[in-house]
Amino acid sequence: MDRWGAEGMEEPRREPVSERAVMDQLESQLEPLFKDLPNEVPLLLFTRPGKNDILASAARFLIRAIREVSPKITLREFDLSHKLARQWSIDRSPTLLIDPDRYRIRWLGAPVGEEARTFVEALLMVGHRKSGMGEESLRVLNKVDTERDIKVFVSPSCPYCPQQAVNALKAVVEKPESLSLEIIDIQANPDLADQYSAQSVPQTYANDLLIAQGAQAEELFVLSLQKLEQQTVFIPDIDAEEVEADLVVVGGGPAGLTAGIYAARSGLRAVVVEKGALGGQVATTPVVENYPGLTQVGGKTLVDLMVTHALEYAKIFQSEEVMDIQPGDPIVVTTNRRRFLSRAVLLATGATYRHLDVPGESRLSGHGVSYCSTCDGPLFKGRKVIIVGGGNSAVTEALHLHNIGVGVTLVHRRDSLRAQEHLAKSVFSNNIPVLFNTEVKEIRGKDRVQEVLLHDNRTEKTQTLPVDGVFVAVGYAPAVELAKKIGVELTPEGYIKHDDRHRTNIPGIYAAGDVEGGYKQIVTATGQGAEASMAIFEDLVHPYWKTRKVAE
Ligand SMILES: Cc1cc2nc3c(=O)[nH]c(=O)nc-3n(C[C@H](O)[C@H](O)[C@H](O)COP(=O)(O)OP(=O)(O)OC[C@H]3O[C@@H](n4cnc5c(N)ncnc54)[C@H](O)[C@@H]3O)c2cc1C
Repeated sequence: MDRWGAEGMEEPRREPVSERAVMDQLESQLEPLFKDLPNEVPLLLFTRPGKNDILASAARFLIRAIREVSPKITLREFDLSHKLARQWSIDRSPTLLIDPDRYRIRWLGAPVGEEARTFVEALLMVGHRKSGMGEESLRVLNKVDTERDIKVFVSPSCPYCPQQAVNALKAVVEKPESLSLEIIDIQANPDLADQYSAQSVPQTYANDLLIAQGAQAEELFVLSLQKLEQQTVFIPDIDAEEVEADLVVVGGGPAGLTAGIYAARSGLRAVVVEKGALGGQVATTPVVENYPGLTQVGGKTLVDLMVTHALEYAKIFQSEEVMDIQPGDPIVVTTNRRRFLSRAVLLATGATYRHLDVPGESRLSGHGVSYCSTCDGPLFKGRKVIIVGGGNSAVTEALHLHNIGVGVTLVHRRDSLRAQEHLAKSVFSNNIPVLFNTEVKEIRGKDRVQEVLLHDNRTEKTQTLPVDGVFVAVGYAPAVELAKKIGVELTPEGYIKHDDRHRTNIPGIYAAGDVEGGYKQIVTATGQGAEASMAIFEDLVHPYWKTRKVAE
């Protein structure tokens, strides 16, 4: 009998030999994290044979690997008909409870894919009884004086989701008496996602009120939780912590990560500051086929390789947005958490997706309108969607959605696709319908997308098409707001103006990657990041601004 007075089945600690190799690899990664876990973490898994069996097996597999490296993790499994399931009102398979005597943390689905990272974080927080939440966030969290039931909708293929789920976990570990959390995998629970119209992930609710769409910085999450509505600005109460550096890289995409590696290898104290998911646009790219040395690699896998490499050298500050830069000596870089006093700054802020700017788009964003097929695609399995666009991104995303069983139609305003030839050919060989010369004029639906109004720009006829989702892939615009704010000059096309050493018009401030314009590719971004760092190193040794005027 365990301490729940239940006779739940104790999971065997060994697995079949065929799984051993994968298990060995997993264990070697988990071992250093779990070896000194001070407290027990009891896990209760509720399943029902025939209901999401694959997910239940995946959950068991991961938990088994963790138990191999830490005796503090225990697992008991129960059928949904067990009295404990009734006691805790559990009716979904699989459902995981994490240390239910102490915390109200419930996982609906299995912690697979990107969510495995969140799960590991959860076990570490619970096992250490420490959330690692920052002081500023704690100050706000302590103002929450009534109960909050938090729901975070996630998907295993969403690289942004762990950030938001971890924010919520930290809050619940800090305030177990008044906060409860459900992490809901939309693939295992499409009906719940439907009920909440949560058609993009991550999406966060507290007491059934939508408090966040997308991943937030920790401080913004707790502020949204406290105020019960999405917050976009956080002003710290106290003077921000100061960090000295030689180079602050703004942006953790391929350009910024490479710059961090090169700068640190030159002996500079380099930090990379990233407001969202590390890897930038690559984090949400389904497949990359033109990165030398890797014939075909998932965008997220490539990002993981780059981040692991960068972490060997540079310090990375994730979930921090650079809000302001004051040029000078030192250059003062202010984020939503702290200030950096630096000798140089590299703007590697990349690009962000363009909107269609049609009626209904922003209202239904997150409720059927999506800009990330990797994140939100699984929700539309077996449903009908359109992808708007005709370039490489639109075509790559159309193929990705088609492959995971979504009924895709490509809508393009021109008479031919702009995507590379082999990509365009794949669209036709996969029989993906394409509506050429067609523009989306309106996206309609009450609380979720129901239809689009299409206009044929040759015949001038309009028609409505019933759809469940609209994926927008009409290109990217350079992320230059910060550059503009501090007086960095732009080109007529809107990119950062720079010389051949990546210097901008402001001494000590440089640019690299998509934000510079040119061929916007991963290899070009990494190349520019490397070049910029080498130029910065030389400039810091021989500051050009002290000897001559800045290049026009
Ligand atoms: C769907 C898709 C498919 C693609 N496929 C390919 C492909 O197959 N091959 C290829 O070579 N290229 C591909 N690309 C292009 C490639 O991803 C980009 O060229 C590359 O990511 C540019 O890297 P970057 O570092 O300059 O910018 P980004 O990748 O855009 O990264 C910039 C980072 O800066 C961060 N940031 C911005 N402002 C701030 C701030 N104020 N504070 C902190 N952080 C900030 C952003 O959050 C972001 O993470 C694809 C792009 C897309 C969208």
